[in-house]
Amino acid sequence: MSRTACFQYRKAIQQIATNSLSLSLITIHPIIQNTIYVGIIQCYDSHTMSNQPQKFPDDLDPIGVYIHIPFCMTRCNYCGFVSYTSDTMLENLYIDALTREIQHLDSSPVLISGSFPKKVDSIYFGGGTPSVLDPNTFGRLLRSVSETLIPTNPIEITIEVNPGTYGKDKLDVLRGTGITRLSIGAQSLNDSELQKMGRSHSSRDFTNLYSAARSAGFENISVDLLAGYPGQTIKSIMKSVKGIIELEPDHISVYLLEIKTGSPLERDSRNGGLRLLDDDVLADIYETICSKIQESGFQQYEISNFSKKGMESRHNMKYWSDKIFLGLGLAAHGMTGRARYSNIVDLEKYLEITAHGGPLIDSFTDMDALTRFKDAMIMGLRLTDGVDLELMGDYYGFDAYSFVDESLHDLKSAGLYEIHKNMIRLTPRGRLLSNIVFSHFL
Ligand code: SF4
Repeated sequence: MSRTACFQYRKAIQQIATNSLSLSLITIHPIIQNTIYVGIIQCYDSHTMSNQPQKFPDDLDPIGVYIHIPFCMTRCNYCGFVSYTSDTMLENLYIDALTREIQHLDSSPVLISGSFPKKVDSIYFGGGTPSVLDPNTFGRLLRSVSETLIPTNPIEITIEVNPGTYGKDKLDVLRGTGITRLSIGAQSLNDSELQKMGRSHSSRDFTNLYSAARSAGFENISVDLLAGYPGQTIKSIMKSVKGIIELEPDHISVYLLEIKTGSPLERDSRNGGLRLLDDDVLADIYETICSKIQESGFQQYEISNFSKKGMESRHNMKYWSDKIFLGLGLAAHGMTGRARYSNIVDLEKYLEITAHGGPLIDSFTDMDALTRFKDAMIMGLRLTDGVDLELMGDYYGFDAYSFVDESLHDLKSAGLYEIHKNMIRLTPRGRLLSNIVFSHFL
C-alpha cells in the first residue's frame, strides 16, 4: 500500500502539471518532493496567500516508521516499484545495510531536522515483498528500531505478505517477532487474471495463507485487491470481492490499476497489444465494489480503504491525517514535519553508503506552513470524514474557509464536495474525480 501510494502520487503531480487530468481514484502519498509541485505552490502563494499569517506547529504525536524491503519472487507485469528479484546474498547485504541505517538514525539529518518526539506507534514493512525474507529478520530489524526510537505499547506493526511465501511455521515465527498486522496482496481470486498480472501465486495460495495466518493468531488482517486490469469485468471482479468478504478480513484495500512507465503492461498498451478499460467502466467497477463492501459491514474510511469498526490502518492514517513518519531503506520517503525527503533509489549506492558513511538522502525539501497546510488538505480530503476546516485553520494559522472558497468555488456546483458544519468532505462523485479537486489546491 505505502509503496503504491508513493508512485501514484508522482503520477498525479505530473498529470496536474500537464493539465491532463482524467478520472482518478489514485492513492496520493503525502511525501512530495517534486519540484513541479513546489513551483506551482509558490505561484499560488504569491497571488492569494501572501498576506496571511503563518505559523509552524510542533508535532507531539507518536510518529510512524515505514521500512522498505525491495525484493520480490518475480516481477509483476504492471509493477513500477523499486524492487529486485529475490536473491539471498543480496538480501542479507541489504538487511545489514538497513540495520546500519536504523542504528545511525540519531546522526541522520532527517531526525535532526525534525521537532518531534521519538515515540513511534506504527511500523510498516512494505515492498517489494517483505515476506521473501526469513521471518526472523523482522525481529532483528524491530530490535534495532527500538534501540533508536521509543515504541509505544500498544503499537501497530504491519508487514506486507504475498501468497505463496509463508506457511503456518513461518507465520508462527513472524507472530513471535511482534508483528501485529498482515497486509496480504491477493489482488484477484481469479487464476487467469493472476496469470495475466504476472503474479507468482494462485488464488488457492491466497486462501491457504489467509487461513494459516488466522491459525497463527493474527487478529488484524488486510487484503489488497487490484481492479481495472485489462480483461477484467465487473462480474469477475465481484467474484473476487465476494470471495474476500466471505473470509471476513478486518480491512480491505481496493486499488485501481495504474499504468507504470517502463512496466511490461505499459509497453503492451503502447504497442496496441492490450485494450485498457475506459474511464466509464472503471467508474462502474469502483462504485459497484464500494457498495458491495460497505453493505457487507465494512466502513469506507478512505478513497481506497474499507475496514471493520476500529480496524483502520493506524499507519496509513498518518499519511491522511497530517502526521509525521520516517522512511527507512532504499527509495523510502518520509516527512519530518518541516521537511519531506526520499532516500536514494540505487541499491549499489545504498549498500556502499551505509557501509562507509555518507548521505542516504536523495531529495530533501523544506516545507513552510502553507505547503504543509495544503498537503494536509489534499490528504485529508481522501478520508470519508474529510477535514475540519476550523481545526486545520487554527493549527496552521490560515483562514481555511477562504482558502476553500478561493480554490474550489467552481467545483461546488458540480457536486464534488460538501461542507457540513466545520467539515469539508468529498461527495461520492468527488471521490471518483478526486484528482480534479486536488489540482485546485495547487
Ligand atoms: S509483488 Fe509485484 S507489484 Fe508488488 S512490488 Fe513485487 S513485482 Fe511489484
